Amino acid sequence: PVLLRFAPSPTGALHLGGLRTALYNHLYARKLGGKWILRIEDTDATRYVPGSVDGIQQALSWAGLDYDFGPERHGSHGPYFQSERLDLYHTHTRKLLDSGHAYRCFCSPDKLSSTRERLARTGSNATYDKACLHLTEEEVARKVKSGEKHIVRLNDDNLPSRPPAHDIVFTHLRDAHASLPTDPVLLKSDLFPTYHLASVVDDNAMGITHVLRGEEWLPSLPLHLDLYAALKLEPPKFAHLPILLNPDGSKMSKRKGDVRVEEFIRRGWEPEAVLNWLALAGWGTAHESASGSGSEAGTESDSSSSTNIADAAPESTRTMTLPELIDSFDLTHLTHRRNVLDPSKLSYLNKHHLMRFWRSSAPSDPSGPLMQHAHSLVPAVRDAFPGVMRDFADAPYIAKVIGALQGRITNLQDVPGLAPFFFVEPEYESTEAKGMLKSINGEVYDNIVAQAASSVSALSEDVSPREVADALHKQLDQMGVKPKAYMTVLRHALSGMKTGPSVPEIVCVLGIERAATRLERAQG
Ligand code: GLU
Repeated sequence: PVLLRFAPSPTGALHLGGLRTALYNHLYARKLGGKWILRIEDTDATRYVPGSVDGIQQALSWAGLDYDFGPERHGSHGPYFQSERLDLYHTHTRKLLDSGHAYRCFCSPDKLSSTRERLARTGSNATYDKACLHLTEEEVARKVKSGEKHIVRLNDDNLPSRPPAHDIVFTHLRDAHASLPTDPVLLKSDLFPTYHLASVVDDNAMGITHVLRGEEWLPSLPLHLDLYAALKLEPPKFAHLPILLNPDGSKMSKRKGDVRVEEFIRRGWEPEAVLNWLALAGWGTAHESASGSGSEAGTESDSSSSTNIADAAPESTRTMTLPELIDSFDLTHLTHRRNVLDPSKLSYLNKHHLMRFWRSSAPSDPSGPLMQHAHSLVPAVRDAFPGVMRDFADAPYIAKVIGALQGRITNLQDVPGLAPFFFVEPEYESTEAKGMLKSINGEVYDNIVAQAASSVSALSEDVSPREVADALHKQLDQMGVKPKAYMTVLRHALSGMKTGPSVPEIVCVLGIERAATRLERAQG
């Protein structure tokens, strides 16, 4: 069975790229009935940010990506913090020293930087002059004995031969040792390993079969393979995930825009929509570029494509649940083209995930998603409308509002702003409200709202929108006004907004009595 790992460094908040890596590890492990480990790579004390492990765990749990082993989920491969595995790195370092694949370097940081500068001035690619490689055994022993500070370097003059580097996504790679530092450091003077040594040792010791990680580690792959060869260990298989780009082609990095997962949580995106979005950004599909499926994002286009899971990799806007993503995941579908993460696709997917949740159970089911979402919105409604009536800030009412707004809700947090008239009196003074009445005579207006108020108030509280519509149509026929003008007047009186749910739906959400009162008050 496969065993994967997600290995973040606790150097700050988890960002989208990290979540994407965790997701792909999860998808691949689950697809093949395997497991994955959360390994915390905390060997660089200078970059440690307190609280980041908690943040990473919270983000993963929000996303529903459950690791099998890791902090608080112990297994035979632990401990899962690299800082607790130093003995293992020291044993392997000794092995490399003994076999001549590594050596101790006693150069001071000052000396190292002047050497680097000197080499750069001569136009050399080298970053170190290997001075310490030429120390005699006696000199080394004496320095070690006297406690002289030192590091351990790989000796890249003395590497075993090995097969060329291969990556599942990027296929064959030309080894570019020139881009690596000369004799890379394996153990630092504080006796902590560098990332390279720790990662290779742990992937082997933990029995990792596949390493899925970000493209930024691809240049390190030859070094890692050298280490496996020098240690006479079998390397795992590697798949590097392409850099994520913004739609303008710029790199989506921690520094540009807010790509922290906690920000996506705060902004109310549905976790499954975010996973759907991240997953499909990297599934290469031949037909996608041709059909330009992204162009419909954000529009009210039909969702029928979301139920049709073809064998081929899906388009990047197909609504898929986590189990569906697992089912369709195929490592060989991954493209090495850089993946564009288009925010408009997230909006589109989020909307469709919401509608899927709401369709999945009876609207009044108290434990169903609709009622739960309504509950979660109570504080937002209170915040948005400080004077809101108690009846309007309770979950069953908000659930009705959501029901009426369904296809317009991109993000749950949009609800208060989309239709404020469901919570407070309409804004009749707004430009939008005034604009609606341009071609309507004041007397006609008063007449329509007065008549509608009386026919609405004759209905019982539990009528359906259909029945309200029948009653209103009967009346507009009697009055002999055009349906469009009639409905515009009622829409104005009830909502003060040009768009929104239909007039009968608004009446039913508000309730007969309140709707009738609102119509009466709108006169004059
Ligand atoms: N600790 C590395 C990071 O935070 C992980 C690299 C790897 O997966 O090998 O990106």
